[in-house]
Amino acid sequence: MTPLDRKIRRLIEIQGPLSVTDFMTACLYDPDHGYYTTRVPIGVNGDFTTAPEISQMFGELVGIWLYMTWRASGAPSRFTLCETGPGRGTMMADIVRTLAQIDRTMLATADIVLVETSPRLVREQQGRLSIYDVAMRWVDSVEALAHQPLFLAGNEIFDALPLRQYAKAAGHWQERLVGVGPDGNLTFVIGPGSLDPLLLPHGAAYRDDGTIFEIAPRREALMGAVANRIARDGGAALFFDYGHVEPGFGDTFQALRKHRPSDPFRDCGKADLTSHVDFAALARVAQEAGLAARMAGQGSFLLSMGIAERAGILGTGKAVGEQDALAAAVERLCGDPGMGTLFKVIAVHPVSLPVPGFDQGGQHAVPAH
Ligand code: SAH
Repeated sequence: MTPLDRKIRRLIEIQGPLSVTDFMTACLYDPDHGYYTTRVPIGVNGDFTTAPEISQMFGELVGIWLYMTWRASGAPSRFTLCETGPGRGTMMADIVRTLAQIDRTMLATADIVLVETSPRLVREQQGRLSIYDVAMRWVDSVEALAHQPLFLAGNEIFDALPLRQYAKAAGHWQERLVGVGPDGNLTFVIGPGSLDPLLLPHGAAYRDDGTIFEIAPRREALMGAVANRIARDGGAALFFDYGHVEPGFGDTFQALRKHRPSDPFRDCGKADLTSHVDFAALARVAQEAGLAARMAGQGSFLLSMGIAERAGILGTGKAVGEQDALAAAVERLCGDPGMGTLFKVIAVHPVSLPVPGFDQGGQHAVPAH
């Protein structure tokens, strides 16, 4: 049993079963034993690999997207360039390197801010980014950003934020909680709290008992904070994650350890806990703030931004092995089935702002170096 297992059981003894949100928050963010607090989980030696870790091309194209939306916004001289949930800092490194090649003046005037809650990962990011001669700041919430146009990107940030689950039981949608079973192990139990039927998607009445429905108020709160900033101060934001663009039913809560699914109730704090992101819910939040929201599959977005051309440029004059590795990275990021369709991207921006990457067959944006 891990120290966090014991802590969670004690908490349940004192206050009764925990919501999936509270369980996930404890497992991921407990200040002493939380998954993100104690380790650098990303990469071949970690529990999962992310798009920026697969290829530099991912962060480069995100950098180009931020540059193009900044230009389309009138190239404001005071603005924030931000990443939320930067992990090892790889994507920001690729963004900074790309912008240094395109427009040094833009880079010099940007207020570069990284939003990160884990002190352990802040240190990791500072180490990786210190080689660039560019000023950067770290904050732990988007609320702390200055009031000026905001150009923001995030990869796999929403899935790291906790969700709530509801299960249909005897015709009602009751909250699914984490309690201790008769055998002493952690287990799901059905709680007293029920869900406002107005929050349920179409067809909820016809679902069988045992069906799960998920909501994620903390994810919506993050999108709301970003969208309200952009609606007020200008800018645009781009988020990648795995999930679905239509609301639906089903249990997507999962634990990952060493790149494999594992039991979320074993060795709390040692596995990544995550779930699929409901992009429709995020789009609704942005639209309520008065912004436009556009969504696409990750593959379609990256191809439209010119990833194939970028791979060609990077591979020119290189050994066949390196060219093959670049082609494999494009396939891994854009493939269908695979990350190219399982992962989605959402852009939120003022209605009048044109943003690249969402029109198939549209003009490609290819970095020149
Ligand atoms: N974007 C990185 C890391 C994804 S993992 C990549 O693609 O490799 C999720 C990241 O979000 C971690 O850095 C985690 O510490 C951070 N995080 C979790 N909750 C956060 C919050 N509320 N605000 C900002 N960052 C958060």
